[in-house]
Formats: sequence, C-alpha cells, structure tokens
Amino acid sequence: MSTAKITGMIKEIPKKTGSKKIAFDDIEKLDNHTQRIMYPISAIVGQEKMLRALILNAINPSIGGVLIRGQKGTAKSTAVRGLAEILPEIETIEGCKFNCDPADPEKFCWECRDKHKRGSLKVKKHPMKVVDLPVGATEDRVVGSLDIEKAVKEGVQAFEPGILAQANRNILYVDEINLLDDFVVDALLDAAAMGVNTVEREGVSVSHPSDFIIIGSMNPEEGELRPQLLDRIALQVEVEGISDLEQRIEIIERRNAFNERTQTFRNDFEPEQERLRSKIMKAKKIFGRVTSTRDNLGTIAQICIAFNVDGHRADIMIERTARTNAAYDGRDRITNNDIIEAAEMVLPHRMRKKPFEEEEFSVEQLQAVVNGTV
Ligand SMILES: [Zn+2]
Repeated sequence: MSTAKITGMIKEIPKKTGSKKIAFDDIEKLDNHTQRIMYPISAIVGQEKMLRALILNAINPSIGGVLIRGQKGTAKSTAVRGLAEILPEIETIEGCKFNCDPADPEKFCWECRDKHKRGSLKVKKHPMKVVDLPVGATEDRVVGSLDIEKAVKEGVQAFEPGILAQANRNILYVDEINLLDDFVVDALLDAAAMGVNTVEREGVSVSHPSDFIIIGSMNPEEGELRPQLLDRIALQVEVEGISDLEQRIEIIERRNAFNERTQTFRNDFEPEQERLRSKIMKAKKIFGRVTSTRDNLGTIAQICIAFNVDGHRADIMIERTARTNAAYDGRDRITNNDIIEAAEMVLPHRMRKKPFEEEEFSVEQLQAVVNGTV
C-alpha cells in the first residue's frame, strides 16, 4: 500500500477554520484549572531510591525512564505527580502543539518548520510537565486522530494531537502501566524506538516528534508488564511500606497537616522544594563535565558479565545513570558507589533467567563484584 506522507509536503498552512475548535492553549489552561493541589515531593517520608530514580531522569532525560513497583499506598503516584513541581525549565516554540525544541530544527513539526522559514519563531520557557496517560485512554486520545475527509481538504490541520504530542520532551506518566491495552503498548514502543509518533489512516500518514521520559507505576499483584515494554524502561525501583515506627508516625502527621492546612503545609516545604530545584539545575550544568574512566567502564562491564544480562544495553544504562548520579551529588567523577546505585536500578529486570530457575538479584553479589572479591 502506498502511503501519502503529509509531513513536510504542506506548502501552505491552511487557515484556522471555525471557532468551535478549542485552541491548544485553551486546553492547557483547562488542564491547569483542573489540576489538583499537589503534595510536595520533598515532604515524602523515606522512599529515597524511588525519589532518586525520578530526579535522575529529570536531570538527564536520556536515561530512559523508571518503573516503580509496589503495593498500593506507597506514595508512588504522589511522588511522580509531585515531581512536576521541581522539574527544570525547557525552551519550546510558542504555540507549538508538539513542544518542538528551538535548538533542533531538524525535528521541527510542520508548523514550526513553516514559521522557521518565515522567520517568525518565538521561544518560550516553561518547566517540563508530567503528562498523564490514563489506562482506559482510547487510541485516538493517545496517538492523535486524523479525519481523512478533512485531511484531503485541509491537510495537516485535520490532525488532532493526542497525549503523545503533549508528552514530547516531557514526562509521560502511566499509573497501572501493567494494565495498559496492547494497542497503547505498541504505540509507546514505536514512539520510544523512533522518537516519532506516526498515525496512518487509509493511506494518509502524519508524523510528529514524540520523545518522552516514560514513568510507569504498578502493583505487581495485579499482573506483570509485557517484556518488550519492561526492556524499554531503563530503571526499576521497588517500593515497600515503611516499617520504622517514627517514620510511620511522621507520614500520618504530614498527611493530616496537608489535608487540614494545605497552604501552610506547602509554604513550610517551599524552602526544601526550592533547594531540590536548584540542586537539579546545578546537576544539569555539571552533567556535561562528568567523565568515566576506563577503570569505571571495566567495573560496569564486569558487573554485566557477572549478572548474565542480555546484550549491551544494561552496560550503557548503568554508565549513563552513574554519571547522572555523580552530577546530582555535585561531583564530576564517578565512583564505585555511583556504579552500584545505578546497577541496583538497571539490573534486576534484565538478568537472563535459566529455565526452572528464579535468579534473584543480590546487592551483596553486586558489591562483591565491584570490590573484586569474587
Ligand atoms: Zn512544532
């Protein structure tokens, strides 16, 4: 079947039609209106590993996402939603539905390409967003919808962007990711592999940039994740209920304070939130200077051999995560500890299992490999 590609073939951008359609900016406003008041991420008690995994992705989007596994009521979605308040700023092109990057004209959508030619690009700065992908979302809502009849008359204007458009260069959050429909998983895998979302209907095809940080949370008691998707998500953290008595009391007290005196509670945590924001900003600046020595790479390779992982993706992910971890702690060299912390998040879901064997990930074994004692 031959497919007419709309992208890049439009010479003239059709005028906006009708006034019934809600403009993209209005949708954004609508979104902000309905946004719930968030529990400050810095007020979460414990769960350091989960918080670190989230923050490392905010510092370095190329890490490749996090999967948070744990029972209900372990602050998984509170943490992800709260992340929105401490995310760094990005530059986008004003009015663009796909959050095109002004610094990357190669990947511009058709509208930005047209504006670029006319020299009318305006850059705006705003914090990255957490875009929700609800488990029951329809295919059109996720990938966008294309009205074929309209496409013939109006070209690309017939494309209504979906969640994958909003999520470009932002965080895509899927709560209960293990319960996603197969068609959504396929769309996510395609977009994750190419950095592009393509919608094809009756021989017409529209593509737009879709390069997002995927964050999923799930309760493993409700079923496992498809292995292809599991493989795509770089880091994995397990969260458990906290068994420390003092910390449990603290959780109740903070929850009550948040519910009863929301604004005061949020104000009280603002200095801590600001401290986190500037730490992330600083880490983003340092990151470019962080280097791994050949010794560091040797340690990473040794770990991946010892833990019997498939392919080389794990090595690359550990190195990248370790470098980001060093930047977050304000260092420009990585240590064995950075490598251990990274490997703990990369390895558990990547070990090759032999038939009839439940191979367990063990931190002790990891430390032994790094210390050269095995
Ligand atoms: Zn654009």
